[in-house]
Amino acid sequence: MSDRYASFAHTGPGRALVKRLGLPDPPKLRRHRPGDPLTTAPVRLDAASGGRLVEPLAKLLTSAGVEISHSSTATTDPATTTTDPATAATGPAEGAGRGVPPQAALLYDATGITDSSGLRALFDFFHPLARALHPSGRVIVFGTPPESCGTPREATAQRALEGLTRSIGKEFGRGTTAQLVYVAPGAERAVESTLRFLLSGRSAYVSGQVVRIGPAEVPEVDWARPLDGRIALVTGAARGIGAKVAEVLAADGARVVALDVPAAGDALAEVANAVGGTAVQLDLTAPDAPLRLADHLADRYGRVDVLVHNAGITRDKTLGRMTPDWWDSVLEVNLTSQERINDVLLDRELIPRGGRLISVSSIAGIAGNRGQTNYATSKAGVIGLVQSMAPMLAERGITVNAVAPGFIETRLTARIPLALREAGRRMNSMAQGGLPVDVAQTIAWFASPGSAGVTGNVVRVCGQSLLGA
Ligand code: NAD
Repeated sequence: MSDRYASFAHTGPGRALVKRLGLPDPPKLRRHRPGDPLTTAPVRLDAASGGRLVEPLAKLLTSAGVEISHSSTATTDPATTTTDPATAATGPAEGAGRGVPPQAALLYDATGITDSSGLRALFDFFHPLARALHPSGRVIVFGTPPESCGTPREATAQRALEGLTRSIGKEFGRGTTAQLVYVAPGAERAVESTLRFLLSGRSAYVSGQVVRIGPAEVPEVDWARPLDGRIALVTGAARGIGAKVAEVLAADGARVVALDVPAAGDALAEVANAVGGTAVQLDLTAPDAPLRLADHLADRYGRVDVLVHNAGITRDKTLGRMTPDWWDSVLEVNLTSQERINDVLLDRELIPRGGRLISVSSIAGIAGNRGQTNYATSKAGVIGLVQSMAPMLAERGITVNAVAPGFIETRLTARIPLALREAGRRMNSMAQGGLPVDVAQTIAWFASPGSAGVTGNVVRVCGQSLLGA
């Protein structure tokens, strides 16, 4: 489960050898530690003219204690921005390669771009700053969802933003992540949880993603313990990603119910004890599993606020060699059990307003994978579940989203033959595998009460893997 190559590449002799031979050079990623600030240096914020997000973003950043080194709102709203005199005099476009101080993040409000000729503003902003980012820097472009645009020209320009952010993610290197956040008109006040997640070390292994935020009522959030008082059920919690999800949700304040098969009872009890939660031994594929789970949750807590469908299995064989029971068991655990549990918990109204359904998909469900027809079918089905349920659940004030992990260092990936394992690890913008905590933190962002406007999203936690879109 350890990446010996990356550990070696981070030593003195390793660094020299990697450089000399032109080998992949996995950067050390900035990951969140409790008490860390959102950023370790000032951020740059600017907007195409007419941008509707730059002012709310400047206010959010300032109230979150993030220093803004330059912002186009500085002239209109000096109270909300801190302007670095060294760069303010010349403006962002003129600082090219001439002592632009290192920035933790480059944020650009592109909502004012209404046709393709306006895209030049992106070049003007990013070109001079392309080498001014700290290691593990952040690029976030904000746009209007093309489906909400008033004209085809505006929708075209807004759709073009995807190509820019995905390319920056592949180009900037040194652990930089780049994302596009589409904020629907009227959703300006629902951005904070996403801004905080994407700026922080919590999103270390998330890059090249497109996030959509819709209008929603966002309650007051205690950002240090956003899940205080919430009940969170995590399936497949005895080990791997699920165990980490339990830990991260508990650290965010949730009371965790950790579920796994009876055969994993000891490991499950350890996880539950470590996070001060409770354990439920249950095989999710048992015919009475949804009812038994619903009864347990109703008796113990009366509800469940956050439901993380993480349990999953692989039974890999090419389709011609696969047995029917390998097909059935993968579909049953990875997809059908999620549907059956959702149906019962929703029917019995055990998931209240503000509830969060979060499924674990996979990049195999997006790109497909040789030898994984069963697994990829189940994981693509999970994406279908999220997208089809989101509008219906929105009426009940419940969100539903999925994470799609890429190569994450767990027992599941430790079993992959060496050559394939190395390919999986290195073929992404970070040149390394992710850690369970990277998936767990992404799930915690979806789970936050602050993410009320984030629904129907599938976010890959894959270091921008070359596999798939
Ligand atoms: P893992 O095998 O380490 O853990 C999965 C857990 O699910 C185990 O504890 C297992 O006992 C439990 N489980 C399996 N069947 C169950 C059932 N019928 N009822 C209850 N519990 C059951 O796997 P992991 O790597 O931690 O993966 C977690 C999730 O992430 C899975 O859905 C997996 O498909 C997905 N995923 C993992 C990776 C990766 O690189 N590790 C990549 C993409 C997606």
